[in-house]
Amino acid sequence: MTNLIEISGVSKRFGGVIANSQISLNVPEGGITGLIGPNGSGKTTLFNSVVGYHPIDEGSITFEGQEISRMRVPQIARLGLLRTFQQTRIYGKMNCMDNMMISVPQRRMPLARMFSKFPAEVIDRAEAILEFVGLYQKRMLPAGSLSFGQQKLLEFAMALINEPKVLLLDEPTAGINPTLINGLIDRLRRANEDFGITLFVIEHNMRVIMNLADNIYCLAHGEMLAHGTPEEIQNDQRVVDAYLGAH
Ligand code: ADP
Ligand code: MG
Repeated sequence: MTNLIEISGVSKRFGGVIANSQISLNVPEGGITGLIGPNGSGKTTLFNSVVGYHPIDEGSITFEGQEISRMRVPQIARLGLLRTFQQTRIYGKMNCMDNMMISVPQRRMPLARMFSKFPAEVIDRAEAILEFVGLYQKRMLPAGSLSFGQQKLLEFAMALINEPKVLLLDEPTAGINPTLINGLIDRLRRANEDFGITLFVIEHNMRVIMNLADNIYCLAHGEMLAHGTPEEIQNDQRVVDAYLGAH
């Protein structure tokens, strides 16, 4: 299996805090890679580095073999690498369809956009994706009126309309009602299996990540602690200790 993302020896400091120290990991194409670790272990920082949110201090990050560690967010996004946030970033006063429309890349919005008209195929696609995440009935409602879990589904839909090759999800189930969690996991898996989107997922809920990921990395104190299958990670004493030590 080829690696879509290769992270090699990446370090990131904030003043005196070493958020990531010499991190190396691979995200295989077509798979679901998990990233776990206690709070403050450097997971979000690593995502931020991959998507170009801030420069890294050392190391290399490649996407499809191309060095991306000196590229900016929009350039990396254009290559097909997108992320969602721990906190949702939707426009609460706008309806779901309009939130979808502002997420469509400019290059797919030819002249029609200048006349405030969206091409029919873009509208059809947005509706199909809202249907896929279960929000079709709510497409004309203000995004702010949705439950937190539904807002996360909308954010997922907003990422999907960009047709990413790989999607980085930062704690997709955090704050979501348990009854919605299974639906979300099911959609993530279908996005991976049916649409071929490679997933790289930070997740705090152990049950979720053990179910979803085919390989898992564990960070602790900014360092790589372990890597393996869900079963190997679950039975790794260092991982268990890292979590116990954090509580
Ligand atoms: P996690 O996502 O695993 O909970 P983070 O990557 O958010 O961990 O944080 C790792 C460490 O880096 C923490 O000590 C955090 O306080 C620090 N950190 C993260 N982002 C910043 C920032 N923008 N400025 C200063 N410190 C930061
Ligand atoms: Mg985080």
